[in-house]
Amino acid sequence: MEYYENILHTIGNTPLVKLHKVVKDIPATVLMKVETFNPGHSIKDRMAMKMLQDAEARGDIKPGGTIIECTSGNTGMGLALAAAVKGYKCIFTTTDKQSKEKIDLLRAVGGEVIVCPTNVEADDPRSYYSVARRLSTEIPNSYWCNQYDNLSNRTAHYESTGPEIWKQTDGKITHMVVGVGTGGTISGTGRYLKEQNPDVKIWGIDTYGSVFKKYHETGEFDEKEIYPYITEGIGEDIIPENVDFKVIDRFEKVTDKDGALMARRLAREEGLLLGYSAGSAVAGLLQLKDELTPEDVVVVVIHDHGSRYVGKIYNDEWMRERGFLERELCVRDLLNMK
Ligand code: PMP
Repeated sequence: MEYYENILHTIGNTPLVKLHKVVKDIPATVLMKVETFNPGHSIKDRMAMKMLQDAEARGDIKPGGTIIECTSGNTGMGLALAAAVKGYKCIFTTTDKQSKEKIDLLRAVGGEVIVCPTNVEADDPRSYYSVARRLSTEIPNSYWCNQYDNLSNRTAHYESTGPEIWKQTDGKITHMVVGVGTGGTISGTGRYLKEQNPDVKIWGIDTYGSVFKKYHETGEFDEKEIYPYITEGIGEDIIPENVDFKVIDRFEKVTDKDGALMARRLAREEGLLLGYSAGSAVAGLLQLKDELTPEDVVVVVIHDHGSRYVGKIYNDEWMRERGFLERELCVRDLLNMK
């Protein structure tokens, strides 16, 4: 018989898939690390497992306890799967900008979800960080994972994502491109890859409305960089402990519109139904295409599955309301055309 002991053993070892049509203007080979093959359909399963294993090893959470996390959805999904197998309860705080699908999914896997306002500062008592922190002090035998500052996050990628990419590319990778939120993925994977070959370039994808790019370039935390944006999962209004700026060579900002449109192209032209930030990552790579040569091997690490966004970027009405898609011509428009 061939089987896994439980679903958590299926985390990792995701495929690399070559892109064709959407990168026809890029001279390099572009490979996607398709993390949707994880059981929670996102890369975050890796670090959720690791944060929990490390907390268990330290005795920070005991059987029957409650896992608390502030999450845009994917980390919560990974934690909920692990909690179901290991017998923990889960409470997730999230923000009101996250897609309804993500919130419904967290509830489907047994999580209690508290939706907090998006546009308040991180230290506001109503923010999703503050609510998670407070709950962890009030609920006995609870553990707040805090993916932003918990370094088990980036260690998970140092131990798994990095070695997988190095092995799969036979050490030929020249560039890694990935969206940055907590910074765990880019910092852990990037550190591993740079240890194997210091010439590998690590490019982080940021959003307009986030502090990363400016902070990386100037060392200045500029509050003027912070304003509301629509892209989910990347960009921050804080500097998380997990971001290791030393391993990141550059940040590139991508607009909400360009990320959304590229995600749609990936689905329709490459058969890859992926999340919003995957579109941002590929759109960001296209913005940097002049820096690449035919010998380069680029790995774009994508975070999550497109099913989480069917009511958003894959919904034409939602796209049109935000000015991301032209309105379709209707019969009246045609009749009015001269
Ligand atoms: N994309 C999505 C959809 C995410 O959920 C996240 C996690 N916030 C990221 C990108 C960024 O990953 P990381 O937190 O490892 O920087």
